[in-house]
Amino acid sequence: MSLNERLKDGLEFKGKSEKGQSTPPGIIHTIRSFDLAQRYVFLRLDLNVPLRDKVLYEERQVEDDTRIQEAVPTIQYCIDHGAKVIIASHLGRPEGRKKMEYSLEPVARRLCLFLGKEVTLADDCVGDGIQHLTKGMKEGQVLLLENLRFYKEEELNSLEFSKKLASFAEIYITDAFGTAHRKHSSTYTVPQLMQKKGIGFLIEKELKFLEPLINEPQRPFYAVLGGIKVTDKIKTIEALLKRVDALLIGGGMAKAFLAAIGNPIGALTTPSKPEDVTAAQTLLKEATRLNVKVILPTDTNAGYDIGDETIATFCNFLTRSRTVFWNGPLGWFENPNYEKGTFQVAKNIAELNSLKIVGGGDTVSAIRKAGVGHCFDHLSTGGGAVLEFLEGRGLPGIDILKVPVE
Ligand code: ADP
Ligand code: MG
Repeated sequence: MSLNERLKDGLEFKGKSEKGQSTPPGIIHTIRSFDLAQRYVFLRLDLNVPLRDKVLYEERQVEDDTRIQEAVPTIQYCIDHGAKVIIASHLGRPEGRKKMEYSLEPVARRLCLFLGKEVTLADDCVGDGIQHLTKGMKEGQVLLLENLRFYKEEELNSLEFSKKLASFAEIYITDAFGTAHRKHSSTYTVPQLMQKKGIGFLIEKELKFLEPLINEPQRPFYAVLGGIKVTDKIKTIEALLKRVDALLIGGGMAKAFLAAIGNPIGALTTPSKPEDVTAAQTLLKEATRLNVKVILPTDTNAGYDIGDETIATFCNFLTRSRTVFWNGPLGWFENPNYEKGTFQVAKNIAELNSLKIVGGGDTVSAIRKAGVGHCFDHLSTGGGAVLEFLEGRGLPGIDILKVPVE
């Protein structure tokens, strides 16, 4: 059965990937498996959007509403199916205190706009007041709970706090992909306390595109990697080495790989940290052992971008691909003097017939800025969660939703 067919009722996980890593077996229900009419649905979303003017309460605005837009289809589905929708999210790092500059109020305003209906923002996320508010809810009504991280218990994964959250609803749905790698109350323990649980459309889409990268990628499968620090992404690179046919490395992190092989181009600007060079050395050895080709830059634009020769090599090599995964800009693209490498490669990948998947907040921004976002099959805004998923060990907030195969 194809993945698309399986998605109709729920995703089935056999528990072993091609390379033998294990994730728990079971079925993850999608939101379509539940009868939502008249039901209280606890919807965990990732509405953690960047805000402008954090200090002046009244003037705060949502700077980039991508995550809110991405959440709309699941909320709309709940509304259309007569659910009583209780939305929960975190925003920023209020460190367990009610710091009103981290209120979800600007998010609530934007949600009202997108849904074209009233969204009630509660002044808290647990307590008698919320119990009272939920009691009076009608079908199709939307209640947004205040920032979960106003309570330190959220990140501490407290059972008591989780029980309070779980008490409001009958069905647990998560679409918070960007937070699925965290074992927090609302992502990890609340679903364990609820019998009916599943995923929304955003996570479904993420899994649909990301799962084949781990299990059955169309080959050749090439990964393009950039960004600055090797040590931040070491586990992801290790995991990718087991799956890809070649790695193309650009961006600041290429310097560490060039230093690792004693190539002088790497030493042109700020030298890489010794730990990055050591990590690069280990990864290069592993690549040789696994017979994975590693393509490094042969020229640079002042160390802040890949040079013209490298752009041509990368673009040329990628024409042979059938699957491309890209994480990490190839240069300091925020500065117009150094955007060329990232933008040219983005435009070239955009033209390929391969499956093209991008993960990483900055990489997605870069590709959008290059004007070719719509040409990619999937732009994941999951950030750290995407990279952890590619490590093949599963994500706690998703694995916990698995129920035994009947
Ligand atoms: P993502 O968010 O997509 O995972 P990262 O956070 O790893 O990407 O890296 C993004 C940052 O790396 C960008 O801000 C970009 O400017 C920077 N960057 C990439 N290459 C270089 C370079 N050679 N010099 C300076 N900055 C770089
Ligand atoms: Mg980033």
